[in-house]
Amino acid sequence: ANEKFDAIVVGAGPAGSAAAYTMAKAGLSVVLLERGEFPGAKNLFGGVLYRKQLEDILPDKWQEAPFERHIVEQRLWILDSQSAVTFGHRNEAFKHPYNCFTGMRVKFDQWFAGKAEEAGALPIYETVALELIREGDKVVGVRTDREDGDLYADVVVIADGVNSLLGKSLGIHREWSPDEVSLAVKEQIFLPKEKIMDRFNLEGDEGVTIEFIGETSKGMIGMGFLYTNKESLSLGIGVMVSELKRTRIKPYELLESVKQHPVIRKLIQGGETKEYAGHLIPEGGYHSIPPLSGNGWVICGDAAQLVNFVHREGTNLAMKSGQFAGEAIIEAKNRGDFSRATLSLYDQKVKESFVHKDLRKYRGLHGFLKEIDPKLAFTDLPRVLNEAAYEMLLVDGETKANKQRNAIKRMKETLGGTFSALKFGYKGWRAIN
Ligand code: FAD
Repeated sequence: ANEKFDAIVVGAGPAGSAAAYTMAKAGLSVVLLERGEFPGAKNLFGGVLYRKQLEDILPDKWQEAPFERHIVEQRLWILDSQSAVTFGHRNEAFKHPYNCFTGMRVKFDQWFAGKAEEAGALPIYETVALELIREGDKVVGVRTDREDGDLYADVVVIADGVNSLLGKSLGIHREWSPDEVSLAVKEQIFLPKEKIMDRFNLEGDEGVTIEFIGETSKGMIGMGFLYTNKESLSLGIGVMVSELKRTRIKPYELLESVKQHPVIRKLIQGGETKEYAGHLIPEGGYHSIPPLSGNGWVICGDAAQLVNFVHREGTNLAMKSGQFAGEAIIEAKNRGDFSRATLSLYDQKVKESFVHKDLRKYRGLHGFLKEIDPKLAFTDLPRVLNEAAYEMLLVDGETKANKQRNAIKRMKETLGGTFSALKFGYKGWRAIN
């Protein structure tokens, strides 16, 4: 029972399956361990998957991925209580090649893990990794909840998601603090296909994403989303856990009020809610990334805080980090050395890629959000922006120059004067650059 493998991958999410596939394809003996009945059984996300990182891993097979709709338009709404200032971009070019698509994790994770199985990875599902087995500072295996459940390998790939029991047990990160994770709740709302296509101006398998900020997060740091699937919509909102603690607002109350917003209500009306679930998102950003490798282990995806929440990119960073981890382990196998010295190739690959560089670009944002008044940024400013838009478009005999002057005056007042407004703008710019 205690056969030794080249690698044990813990977690069959996008990160784990990417790592398992990469290694199995190169002929390594790999175990893919998953606590769910099957991969994706209990996994939840908003819904957007990205073509590029999937294609990097499966150049000939990515098209077979179970997708819902190919995204041709992405919108951003800044909401006040009964209004929206909207931005967006729609482009046929997003279809040639596809840029991103909506999907269901129940189907996608199963399919993706299936590719790792086809490549030769040994699936062990419905099995929980309880702890890492160590010899000194070296990780040599995983203890599972199965009888005789100790598994041994040269390397353990820790891809067990945001709560990362194994990452914590290594001591490379603590329990995430409430301002390093957000809690998102989501409903799947079923509607006839034709209704979705009419309401969102779609043809064939085209799809739209909408993210929204403003009044809907009730003065907390948060963002909502509405995505189109084939015959359903995914509606959700995520808020920093520290904010939920501060305000004592319950996430489901928040989602209920989102559904009442006049701009959103009309898009979902008549729909039937079939699923409701919540999940954490690692949003600590750059400064929360733990060391990525050590003697006999690497850590990938959500377990390593690799999420770019500004662009709602998580699955692709998970896949890319899993692929890099797999490649580094293949090299370690060639060298016959699984110490940190060789496995740090993985850190290096991550550092040289968009994964690390994008998170680095936004490294100041976390501090900025901590520093500012959430109500100001997420309720008051959206309100002033909406009022300005309303004023400028309302034909009431007032001159445009006066309207503009009033709008600027109100914006400055909201921000506490000209100096504060400039400081806010400057700090905000620095936070994302
Ligand atoms: P996970 O997907 O969490 O996979 C971890 C796997 O490990 C799971 O299958 C779990 O069952 C298993 N596991 C955990 N512990 C153990 C254990 N001890 N033993 C065995 N198995 C274990 N990203 C996007 O790209 N686009 C989006 O639109 C998007 N929207 C999101 C909306 C919401 C509401 C949420 C919560 C997240 C969203 N994300 C999105 C983020 C994205 O879901 C994650 O970044 C991504 O799933 C990370 O992949 P992963 O493989 O690292 O972890």
